Amino acid sequence: MATTDTAIIGAGPYGLSLAAHLDAAGVPHQVLGTPMEGWRNFAPPGMLMRSDGWSTSLYAPQRGYALQDYCALRGIRYQPIGMHLTRETFIDYGLWFQQQLVDDLRQVDVVDMRRVDGMFHLALSDGTSIVARRVVLALGLKGFEKTPPVLQGLPREFVSHSCEYGDLEWVRGKDIVIVGGGQSALGLAALMNENGGRIRVLAREPVVTWNNKPQNNRSFISRLIRPDGRIGPGWRAHIIAEWPFVFRAFGAQRRKQVVNSTWGPSGAWWLRDRVVNQVDVSVGSQIRHAAIDNNRIVLQVSMKDQQSQLEADHVIAATGFKTDLSRHAFLSREIVQSMSLQDGVPELTRHFETSVRGLYVIGPASAYSFGPVMRFIYGAKYAAPQVARHILKRYRHDNPAPRTTPAAATPEAVANQADH
Ligand SMILES: Cc1cc2nc3c(=O)[nH]c(=O)nc-3n(C[C@H](O)[C@H](O)[C@H](O)COP(=O)(O)OP(=O)(O)OC[C@H]3O[C@@H](n4cnc5c(N)ncnc54)[C@H](O)[C@@H]3O)c2cc1C
Repeated sequence: MATTDTAIIGAGPYGLSLAAHLDAAGVPHQVLGTPMEGWRNFAPPGMLMRSDGWSTSLYAPQRGYALQDYCALRGIRYQPIGMHLTRETFIDYGLWFQQQLVDDLRQVDVVDMRRVDGMFHLALSDGTSIVARRVVLALGLKGFEKTPPVLQGLPREFVSHSCEYGDLEWVRGKDIVIVGGGQSALGLAALMNENGGRIRVLAREPVVTWNNKPQNNRSFISRLIRPDGRIGPGWRAHIIAEWPFVFRAFGAQRRKQVVNSTWGPSGAWWLRDRVVNQVDVSVGSQIRHAAIDNNRIVLQVSMKDQQSQLEADHVIAATGFKTDLSRHAFLSREIVQSMSLQDGVPELTRHFETSVRGLYVIGPASAYSFGPVMRFIYGAKYAAPQVARHILKRYRHDNPAPRTTPAAATPEAVANQADH
């Protein structure tokens, strides 16, 4: 059976950034997953990245692998702020990063993981298995999609989640209802409208919030009062982005409160003109009942104080994600129980380690420990070196370098060394 020191499950921005750091540190490792799969399969073609150029890099310990470097290499116009970065360019960049820096990668899914005698045994989708001393879960948002109860249990032909797109050709001529008032809902609404669908957005919020266009030429004073943070404007966003370890020092309750209340649903500035007066948006709306009738989905909706009935070919829940590691069926029950999850979320040490020794969690699932920055690609800048340092320390402890013995200094040994 194959063995490695550290298995990284997931080959998105977090998994690839960590692999680049472990590689540089000389820790044997194996990435298990298809590179940038989440972005290739679950984000719609034509989507623009919400984050700015300067916060959409994967992270390597050496210079030359940031998004800016890739753009320079390919002749793509790069802007730190206000860049229209397409999903396609970001995927190409992620694949390039992987090809340059991450050799030890197998394009497989992990289908089962359990602990045997202090080691992790992983069964893979190609029928093989691997044993690792340490495992890092870098699983992104896959499996954590959240659908309102009223839409649960209806046939997939009529109801899906925003993370499932993919190709948008099928929407042409169809009546589509999109539930949600944030970036996923508004972004999909614009793309589906442009692909010939008849789109209606049902937002629970009383108004749609649009982010302001960032200004590139602000004065020093203006920047001092409200700095351009990597994940949002203002000091609060700046602190959240740059000091995740300070965030971790707060109590669990306070951290949860901050994560749940930071940045409600909103739309990116560049989306506004593609939605306002282009797509029918009903604010203050809630679906009360949904049923299939005559091959259509029929919704009873309360809008402000009025009740109305809507019909559509398909409803998309753009209602976000809820981290719950127990939903990952490949994790053994023993591992899930040992992680002592609180509401599906593990409490992590300052090295991103769970209560299971040698099991780490990075990416969005670490947000309750390290703050909202971990929901963004930018968080990999902190997570990757921090975890790599800790794993290197443990690896050195488990594999001490052979001591220099007096015998090694004999003339024969010196001569032998000189021969090599
Ligand atoms: C529509 C959308 C748009 C977004 N836009 C932005 C943005 O513009 N900027 C930003 O910073 N963030 C954005 N985000 C958030 C973004 O998802 C995260 O910031 C980022 O992808 C996290 O990287 P990751 O490596 O943790 O996860 P991912 O990129 O999701 O990678 C995790 C990988 O793990 C794989 N995996 C899961 N289970 C297994 C298994 N059992 N075996 C093997 N592999 C497995 C998945 O297939 C996936 O490829 C967006 C999210 C969504 C849904």
